[in-house]
Amino acid sequence: MLNLTRQMIEIRNILAKVDTSNNIRLPSIVVIGSQSSGKSSVLEAIVGQEFLPKGSNMVTRRPIELTLVNSPELAAEVADFPALQMNNITDFTSVQKLLYDLNMQVPAHECISADPIQLIIKSPRVPDLSLVDLPGYIQVEAADQPMELKKKIKIVCDKYLESPNIILAISAADVDLANSAAIRAAKMADSRGERTIGVITKIDLVDPTRAREILTNKKYPLKMGYVGVVTKAPQQSIFRKPTGFQAFVSQQNFERQYFKENKEEFQGTSVGTRLLKKRLMKVLEKSMASSLRPTYMLVQQELEETSYKFKVEFNDRSLTPETYLAGSIDTVKVAVKEFSERFGRPELRSLLRSELDQRCLELLAERYWNKPSPANSTGSEHLIEPNLQELQHATLNDLYWVRKLDLATSSLTKSGVGRMSTLLITHALLSEIDNIVDNTTLRGHPMARNVVKESAQSVLNGKFFSTADQVENCIKPYKYEIELEDREWALSREHSIMLLKEELRQCTETYNELKKQVGGRKLSQLVSYLEEQNNSKQDQQQQQHENLNFSYALIKRGKEAMFLKDRTELLKFRIQALKSSQCKFKENKYKCPEIFLDAVAEKLTQTAVLFLNVELLSDFYYNFPRELDIKISNLTKEQIELFAKEDPKVKRHVEIQQRKELLELAMNKIEDVLALQKYKAPLASNN
Ligand code: GDP
Repeated sequence: MLNLTRQMIEIRNILAKVDTSNNIRLPSIVVIGSQSSGKSSVLEAIVGQEFLPKGSNMVTRRPIELTLVNSPELAAEVADFPALQMNNITDFTSVQKLLYDLNMQVPAHECISADPIQLIIKSPRVPDLSLVDLPGYIQVEAADQPMELKKKIKIVCDKYLESPNIILAISAADVDLANSAAIRAAKMADSRGERTIGVITKIDLVDPTRAREILTNKKYPLKMGYVGVVTKAPQQSIFRKPTGFQAFVSQQNFERQYFKENKEEFQGTSVGTRLLKKRLMKVLEKSMASSLRPTYMLVQQELEETSYKFKVEFNDRSLTPETYLAGSIDTVKVAVKEFSERFGRPELRSLLRSELDQRCLELLAERYWNKPSPANSTGSEHLIEPNLQELQHATLNDLYWVRKLDLATSSLTKSGVGRMSTLLITHALLSEIDNIVDNTTLRGHPMARNVVKESAQSVLNGKFFSTADQVENCIKPYKYEIELEDREWALSREHSIMLLKEELRQCTETYNELKKQVGGRKLSQLVSYLEEQNNSKQDQQQQQHENLNFSYALIKRGKEAMFLKDRTELLKFRIQALKSSQCKFKENKYKCPEIFLDAVAEKLTQTAVLFLNVELLSDFYYNFPRELDIKISNLTKEQIELFAKEDPKVKRHVEIQQRKELLELAMNKIEDVLALQKYKAPLASNN
């Protein structure tokens, strides 16, 4: 019997999650009573714990949907708040506090909210019951509230008082039943008194004969009758007040004793909390059982409609938030795998090499071709210092040039190649991961995007310092000595000529672009004007006066053009020098710094790439998918659902499927209960 009710409560809870158009509901017991009628005491006596918030200022502002689950395996009561994902709470003071806070989330001026609080209490001492503690319906109705609010309260409460729910109308014995707001409200919703159980509290406060009159009254007949209870024992001692479950044991003893002592007066009436619990169980089971078949029909109809939609819109294709996420993550993994085939050691090498080439060009510009840049130019410096012509005629014993090359080389080898190269690869991988995500369905999902990014970052961060240190260690010998073979020199000669030619091409291109923008004639006028200015000894006053012929922007462009012209000349000059027979031999390295630095850059690249490839790149390709799996497995069900539902199409798909699954589950469970009922019926008739 118990099992049946529990299964039906389960079905009821499943159906509560399905937002159905035809309002499929299995009954629950709705508790109503005016303030101080003893409503909380009755509910708490059923549960065996004090858990309801107390206070005169409308502390119940939301319906509390209370599911009691008989759990013989437990030692004491535990509470769950499924919506808050707070489970197995054993401290009922915190349950009381949580209920208070959840109620207080509704501002006082709004009075009531239709959004119920779900609370599950499991205990070896509770029956399987589904109860609703309705907000202070009656006290509010009686109070001086604006019409608008009264309407709102009525709408929320009336929904719960509707059939097939059972109404538990609580009235105190010391208040005339004619004045009971609970009975009045129950009559409105259930005029024939078929679904209402009357509970008369505080029986101990009236004479037993009077109590009997109330319990057997014919004035307010209820088919399920009245039950009299004593749910609060008078305080025996102010010093040793029992608490928790003990308080309920002592109260139960008091109640039992009270009805025992007045046995005769209460003969033939229904009294006691134990009896009330039993009656509630019976009534609920009966009511649920009779609602089951109509509910089955409604669920079947709803399921047919939902299955049809699922077939037409989504071709019966199964999609859960989890499979959607897994699918999206798989596309990222596949894309990274494809990328790993495109980006290996050779690509790593060329990336690092071009970065070092750039460094070499900067070093050469700074230390050899140190023509002032247009930004710093005051217009007066125009000489190459030291003059490269001198370099051509320097001799092997010229210490100045030997030293200069040594310094330039150290600048390159001691520039933190370990850190720079590791950072370069790390950035390249992270930006590729970004590109990959941009091309998948994860594009519009900030949370999932972050998970992918964090996975990549975490794998790379884990290796960053050790890789940078290892690379730095391995290039250490080059900081002291660099030996070159003829073959290496020849290759670097070719490479530096190619590099300078490319630099020259870019310079010419930028100059031509400038010419196009300013106009050829104007630009050459501007350049000769600036050259004249540089050569002339005219004072500042005069210069400013003449500057007025050209705008500031034009002067800036003119200086840029002059820089590019000088740079072009210089590059041509250096290309020629590198092509000359002097630069054919590595012994002349100090005369050909471009070639020597290029050879150093090549050595640094080769060594660094060996480590970067194994320590960083291969490690990343191996560990990134694994890290991604770990991060994904740490996501909560809610996070995954939220992620999937960010896409409206996926949201609809997932929702229809979830609805279909819930309805199927409810159908199966109802079928099981119906089969059990069929099986039990002949047994009952045989007995
Ligand atoms: P609620 O406002 O309807 O929830 O009522 P409560 O359960 O808080 O009870 C109101 C007051 O009546 C409290 O002071 C209780 O101690 C007292 N009370 C409740 N039930 C009984 C009872 O059966 N006997 C006696 N003597 N007092 C009771």
